[in-house]
Amino acid sequence: MNIPLTEEAIQQEARLLFEKQRRFAPAMAQTTVKERIERLKRLLNYLTSHLEEAQEATYKDFKKPAAETLLGEMYVLTSEIKYTIKHLRRWMRPQKVATPLSALGTSAYIQYEAKGNALIISPWNYPINLALKPLISALAAGCVAIIKPSELTPHSSAYVRKVVEAVFSAEEVAVMEGGVEVSQALLALPFNHIFFTGSPAVGKIVMKAAAEHLASVTLELGGKSPSIVDETADVATTAQKIAWAKFLNNGQTCIAPDYVLVHSSVRSKFLDEFTKAVTTMYRPEGKEAEASESYARIVNNRHFDRLKSYLDDAVEQGAVVELGGKTNPADNFIEPTVLSGVNDSMKVMQEEIFGPILPVMEYEKLPDAVAYVNQHEKPLALYVHSSSVANANYVLSNTSAGNALVNDLLIHFGNHEIPFGGVNNSGIGKSNGFFGFQEFSNAKGIMKRKFGTTKFLYPPYTDKIKKLLNFMVKYM
Ligand code: NAD
Repeated sequence: MNIPLTEEAIQQEARLLFEKQRRFAPAMAQTTVKERIERLKRLLNYLTSHLEEAQEATYKDFKKPAAETLLGEMYVLTSEIKYTIKHLRRWMRPQKVATPLSALGTSAYIQYEAKGNALIISPWNYPINLALKPLISALAAGCVAIIKPSELTPHSSAYVRKVVEAVFSAEEVAVMEGGVEVSQALLALPFNHIFFTGSPAVGKIVMKAAAEHLASVTLELGGKSPSIVDETADVATTAQKIAWAKFLNNGQTCIAPDYVLVHSSVRSKFLDEFTKAVTTMYRPEGKEAEASESYARIVNNRHFDRLKSYLDDAVEQGAVVELGGKTNPADNFIEPTVLSGVNDSMKVMQEEIFGPILPVMEYEKLPDAVAYVNQHEKPLALYVHSSSVANANYVLSNTSAGNALVNDLLIHFGNHEIPFGGVNNSGIGKSNGFFGFQEFSNAKGIMKRKFGTTKFLYPPYTDKIKKLLNFMVKYM
């Protein structure tokens, strides 16, 4: 599909596509478990037989290493599809529930029904994964969907379109490529559910647009995810884990550790071990990180300039570059970088970093670290590294975050058994496995009367009825 040039043409194309899908949505909603599984299998087969193309596309977009595409894009998708195929029959089955005394004579169950027309708007940082993972949930739920992938990663977005066009008819699933104007043309239409992954700022725009049609939303947003390292943590292992989670995808991961809060007694050991970890991962044989094939690039000049401005601003205000700091605008390259001596007046501590810069702050007492986290927006992920169960539990029970992990990072994204998502500024609604299926479904509560009646409560309201109601209020 060629992207129309004028705003009117874009709106017209979006409307026609939407109408085509709206006509098909009832048939899609009626699909059996077998038919939905068949669609998911087709998607799985296509993806597994086009892995190299995916790796080429993401490499062209921002030099994403092939291994990171296999792990962070393709494995995430194939494992989600397999999990969904395995469990879909159970999810679609009516879920019987207990009958309260007041409903004697009835039976009740929950039946998940497709919401209908779904819109999926995705970001550039995991451009294949985040466009197609919500689609797996939408297909499982029986929705038709239009996907609007990011304009910042054109090769990956073209790959997503190719996948969708090869596997589905346009009345089932379609892709509309393009930027804000395409997004806004789609947002003007009366979708039943909008699944948006991106920044909190655009999340607000999406939610406002959804309000026009009272469409339900899933907002998978971002923010600053902290990593707390206490004095009991295994510092060497923790430093390795944080380095991996921070520099994977060049720091452009929504759940990357944005900054570290380390106990002052282990601060210098942490910095040493972190440097060692970075050297092992990105500078083997003493080469510069710029020569590493395991290190992606910043997605474009605009984001490079944004990150460089955070770095310059922090240094101007007294931050110390503990590691890295070299940049190359010609290649959108920033070395794995660690800053200390940062504070909240610096841009690097005000905005989500979304790049390979790690501020490390120290704390004396755990409640101080927790208080710092709580003074800011609720994060998408919160990480605590500790060998003290009491300390880890203290952090978990005194903070709020979309997800929380003890002694590891990022791995929750691939755990289909737990909900993934944010809270308030970091998101609304959840994804992964059944939780994703639920987002695209209406959990319809159904009651069927077999015998009995509530006729004895109908007007006129006699004293007998009032006595009965008094009894019910007090004792039932
Ligand atoms: P973004 O919000 O700029 O863009 C996301 C999508 O929205 C793109 O498709 C874009 O075309 C569209 N868009 C942009 N401006 C718009 C507007 N004014 N109106 C309508 N649509 C618009 O986000 P991004 O830069 O692509 O991605 C980075 C952000 O996404 C970070 O904040 C990151 O934390 C977050 N993120 C969250 C998750 C998650 O699962 N929670 C995953 C990845 C990224």
